[in-house]
Amino acid sequence: MKNYYTGETIDQGVKELAAYMKSSDSIVILTGAGMDTESNIPDFRSEGGWWRKIDPRTVANIDTFAQNYTLFHEFYSMRIKLLQDVLPHAGHFILADFEQKGVIKSIATQNISGLHRMAGSQNVHELHGNIATVRCNSCGQPAKTEDFLHKNNCTSCSATALRPNVVLFGEALPQNVWAQALSDIQRADLLVVIGTSLEVAPVNQLPLQAKGRTVFINKEDSGVHYNFDLTILGKAKEVMEKLKGQL
Ligand code: NAD
Repeated sequence: MKNYYTGETIDQGVKELAAYMKSSDSIVILTGAGMDTESNIPDFRSEGGWWRKIDPRTVANIDTFAQNYTLFHEFYSMRIKLLQDVLPHAGHFILADFEQKGVIKSIATQNISGLHRMAGSQNVHELHGNIATVRCNSCGQPAKTEDFLHKNNCTSCSATALRPNVVLFGEALPQNVWAQALSDIQRADLLVVIGTSLEVAPVNQLPLQAKGRTVFINKEDSGVHYNFDLTILGKAKEVMEKLKGQL
């Protein structure tokens, strides 16, 4: 097992991460839902228990959109409302500060919350879109979130097809965003992956495309098959706060 830190050894892991960062020229961050849980946004793994015992992955799905719009609409209305009042935590702000200081190049994220941008990060590749905006799935025109929430039809083409601008399971990722994230990751000499189960394709392939060193920060070891150079099993916010003190 390569460098692996958990529990009382986390501080040592963070020291090592800081040393990696100091000796790297191009650092890219890849985040997942675990980056946002300390902002009170549940990840998918914890959600099953609180939303009607339905796995969100079966609802956040293009087939559900097409075949059961009522269920799709109910799920995303709940998610939009849940995300309307959330705020970035210290970890998001620390990453934004790293970008501003030229320590990191960009963030590729699976999160649809927009919290990285809200914290001030500018170079953010939102691989799964952003829930803050809505479009018509039929004609592609932008629409108002209020219209989606009221289950109104599209004002341009009248279809019952409004949806948030997020990538659903069963859909392709936005090609330009994917290409930019991939290019940044391939050019980086350090990739730091934070808060993801690495279960969702194709994003879970990105760490395998890295040519430089790779680091995994997560609450549990879902990266066991990835051969990360450094693994820190801890909470995203806590690890970022410790890291800030080392740089
Ligand atoms: P996931 O739910 O599959 O996995 C999250 C991982 O983060 C888990 O391994 C969990 O142990 C870990 N984790 C939870 N809290 C943590 C913390 N405080 N610090 C460190 N690690 C923590 O999420 P995923 O891998 O991102 O992929 C699932 C899909 O979920 C993605 O498509 C994403 O778009 C979507 N999603 C996004 C949000 C969001 O925008 N915040 C929330 C839920 C789901």
